[in-house]
Amino acid sequence: MRPVSVLAVAAEVFPLVKTGGLADVVGALPAALAAEGVATTILVPGYPAVLQALSGAAHVFGWRQFFGGSAGLLRGQAGGLDVLVLDAPHLYDRPGNPYVGPDGRDWPDNARRFAALAKAAALVGQGVAADLLPDILHCHDWQAGLVPAYLKFGGAVRPPATVLTVHNIAFQGLFPASLLGALELPDAAFGIDGVEFYGMIGFLKAGLALADRITTVSPTYAAEIQTPEHGMRLDGLLRSRGGILHGILNGIDETVWNPATDTLTPKKFSSADLSPRAANKRAVQEVFGLDISPAPILLGVISRLTWQKGLDQLLDCLDDLVELDMQLAVLGSGEDGLESGFTAAAAAHPGRIGCVIGYDEALAHRMQAGIDALVVPSRFEPCGLTQLCALRYGALPVVARVGGLADTVVDANEAARAAGLGNGVQFTPGMLRSALRRTAELWRDQAAWRQLQVNAMAQDVSWRRPAAQYAALYRGLLTN
Ligand code: ADP
Repeated sequence: MRPVSVLAVAAEVFPLVKTGGLADVVGALPAALAAEGVATTILVPGYPAVLQALSGAAHVFGWRQFFGGSAGLLRGQAGGLDVLVLDAPHLYDRPGNPYVGPDGRDWPDNARRFAALAKAAALVGQGVAADLLPDILHCHDWQAGLVPAYLKFGGAVRPPATVLTVHNIAFQGLFPASLLGALELPDAAFGIDGVEFYGMIGFLKAGLALADRITTVSPTYAAEIQTPEHGMRLDGLLRSRGGILHGILNGIDETVWNPATDTLTPKKFSSADLSPRAANKRAVQEVFGLDISPAPILLGVISRLTWQKGLDQLLDCLDDLVELDMQLAVLGSGEDGLESGFTAAAAAHPGRIGCVIGYDEALAHRMQAGIDALVVPSRFEPCGLTQLCALRYGALPVVARVGGLADTVVDANEAARAAGLGNGVQFTPGMLRSALRRTAELWRDQAAWRQLQVNAMAQDVSWRRPAAQYAALYRGLLTN
């Protein structure tokens, strides 16, 4: 197989900078793709955390003036990854979050900051960085959306192929049209086949209009974003490009999420012997101040507490939960109303409902290893990672039938169970109450429940299959 060279372009990458699932994907793909004969270099902004982690760096290109200051490209390793760092202190040498300042507002120059990233990628695609001439520019989310625009409107002679992956269509990178010149784009770029979107400059829109291939992170989400309900005004464009739009599921890191070796959990276990889960369940009950007993179904939530995640629906079901002899452990942080809602629920139902407000990776591991079921009632969910972790740990996901949740959870209905299948519960969005009732019914047959756990743990949630699909997509572009 011909080796393929990819430049991934992203505003965040685990373990260097992370605010969400995007970073996990960008950080995990290179190792999985290497097994497919694909070599990946990641172009990232030179945030302080990236520059600190960078080792063995060589200066491969420089600008005296680049979007308002001097800048350079540094090629080296960071966090176990091959990276190309856009070192531009006037754009990226700032503390904290990559997108927002200490006041919690977007950095006022975000348009320039990520236009610079995209333009640098387009130039690397044309060979400015010695010894690095990628076959493919793989752009992630709106921050890299302008890459194909710089290639097209910058007059690139033999441009590399471009792939744009949408991790969440809710984030589109919209900026005033008056910035066109400052972003070093010609007037000709401001059209329906370019960066224009409802009178503004749309970074994601530009990428969707111009990339050679579009992917998103699950097949169901790929279909959903072509509808007015989920497309967030981009559905028409996506329908027109439906032939080059693919859904490729995310995976999780099987070494980090492995119940047989997980040192963050009290007792390790495998699907051959699930009995250690009982001690893990007790440990979760202790942390959340719940009554210690194996009998009730212990439901868990590990989530950002935002409208997208639909957890207000769970607050509406508290009486049912108690009536069905369920316990609930909630770990999350986010919107005030949801944080106070779950805090109040815990106070009103001591021993039954517990909540920890915050982000705690170790506690997330302990929960997955001990809860009986994980509730994910999202209104939309491009892929979702938390249900993949739950499957791996034998915590049955109870999920709304949307996006990646629909593609990864197999509902334990009669037909599925008769065929030895099923690994969780799916419900029509909004129907959480009846899903909880079905979960309670399934729990009554403990042997059948264990079979569902075994099925869940046998599911391949690794990066192997997704990486093979990305590699096939790249190779398809090169033979075109
Ligand atoms: P999203 O990216 O929309 O937040 P995902 O399910 O795709 O949702 O990924 C979120 C990841 O972060 C999951 O692995 C989830 O378990 C984890 N997570 C979310 N909230 C917390 C929290 N409060 N503490 C620890 N881990 C969390």
